[in-house]
Amino acid sequence: MTRVKGITRRWLINTLGVIAAIVIVIVICLSFAIKVFFYNSIEQTISGRSTELINVFGSYTTESSTDFITMATEYVENFPDKELMELMVINSAGRVVITSTGFPPDESQPMPDYEMAKSSSGGVATWSGTLVSGEPVMALTRVITNSQGSYLGAVRYIVSLEMANQRVMAFVAIFITSGVVIILLVLFSGSFFIRSIVNPVKKMSVTAKRIAQGDFNAKIDKLHDDEIGDLCDAINNMAQELGVAEKMKNDFISSVSHELRTPLTAIKGWAETMQLGGVSDKETFDKGMSVIIKEASRLTGIVEELLDFSRLQNGRMMLMMDKTDILAELDESIYMLKERASSEGKHLLYDEPDYVGPVLGDRNRLKQVFFNIIDNALKYTPADGVVAIEVSADQDNVKIKVTDNGVGISPEDLPRVKEKFYKANQTVRGSGIGLAVADEIISMHNGTLDIESSLGVGTTVTITLPLIKEKSSDSGNPQ
Ligand code: ADP
Repeated sequence: MTRVKGITRRWLINTLGVIAAIVIVIVICLSFAIKVFFYNSIEQTISGRSTELINVFGSYTTESSTDFITMATEYVENFPDKELMELMVINSAGRVVITSTGFPPDESQPMPDYEMAKSSSGGVATWSGTLVSGEPVMALTRVITNSQGSYLGAVRYIVSLEMANQRVMAFVAIFITSGVVIILLVLFSGSFFIRSIVNPVKKMSVTAKRIAQGDFNAKIDKLHDDEIGDLCDAINNMAQELGVAEKMKNDFISSVSHELRTPLTAIKGWAETMQLGGVSDKETFDKGMSVIIKEASRLTGIVEELLDFSRLQNGRMMLMMDKTDILAELDESIYMLKERASSEGKHLLYDEPDYVGPVLGDRNRLKQVFFNIIDNALKYTPADGVVAIEVSADQDNVKIKVTDNGVGISPEDLPRVKEKFYKANQTVRGSGIGLAVADEIISMHNGTLDIESSLGVGTTVTITLPLIKEKSSDSGNPQ
């Protein structure tokens, strides 16, 4: 047999153990109570009978021992409950002279109640015990005295306790059976309950191990709609999310590898061609060199993006906060992309406003975000498309809006595009971390980055940044 352990064992000790102890105590108390109840009612019956003796031997008619014996004999003969109890008349010498059974009395029978009654002030005493025959009895003796208080003799009542004991035993048996039934019921309902917890928990730990080993399709069947059911849901959900994260990670690795390989292939190709002397004219040489430089800086860009992402993940991204002219940074980003836009046949429109107040920020990081957002707009807009940049400001904030009429983002992807590694469009180059980094940088500036988009129509990315309050701007850098 397997050893009971864990929750089952704790439940057995803590709950069933306590309930069993309580039931045992209740059964013992009830058994004692029922015994006391039966014995008390028998004692009351005998003592009721014995009070009659005051009437029988009272009123100064019984003055001598002989009178007592005569009257007692008469009382015994007329006693109506001879079936229920035995009567004995004891003379002044302490000898049993008459019994209601008619048989001569057994001198060897113990009579402690008689001895006690003689010495007690009330002249009455009760005793419960067993006869020489082994029969359990209850006896009551009442001593009779004359008007001067002289001892004349005694009357003794004896009742067998056999019937009463049998009834007490029957009750005790009922109590014990009920107790056992209660404990069994608790055991069954409890073990059913424990099983409904332990079995799913066992399944969960097996499933959790499978998930840990990378099987994200592992699922637990939800049996009950309760806390355990919720836990099953949470684990299933976790496995599913882990599966998605795993897929994203793999996609990320493959897209980053691809991103790295493309410029490396170009660099290696041109470098080899040049080394082998395949480039004779200056024009081709210049072209090759410019490809090498462009692709190398693209590689640097990718590596920078990865490093930024890793810094953000570790919380080690440091911002150099300073009073920043947001228009200058935006201008520079647009300038860097202008040539590319026109070479790809895309229209990059920007109507620069005259003045926008300063922003407290890291100029390089903000430039990086603008570059990233405009780069995305160009990337996801086909040739002849339009990317328009608008800047507006109110008293508190400046808004930079980048709108394109490109491929757009589907409503299912839209809420997730800011997540790390998430790519709505797998066919276009990109690591899927650009927006995650941009969003984090803007949040670190207490700003917001909002994306609105409809598939096939276009996308608008709005960056909102708080302006430095003009008054406080004079008093220096608040950071
Ligand atoms: P990626 O390096 O893949 O561009 P990002 O984090 O910059 O990664 O963008 C996440 C995803 O959001 C992209 O894969 C793309 O599907 C979508 N996206 C971002 N900007 C645009 C845009 N202007 N138009 C359409 N889709 C966009």
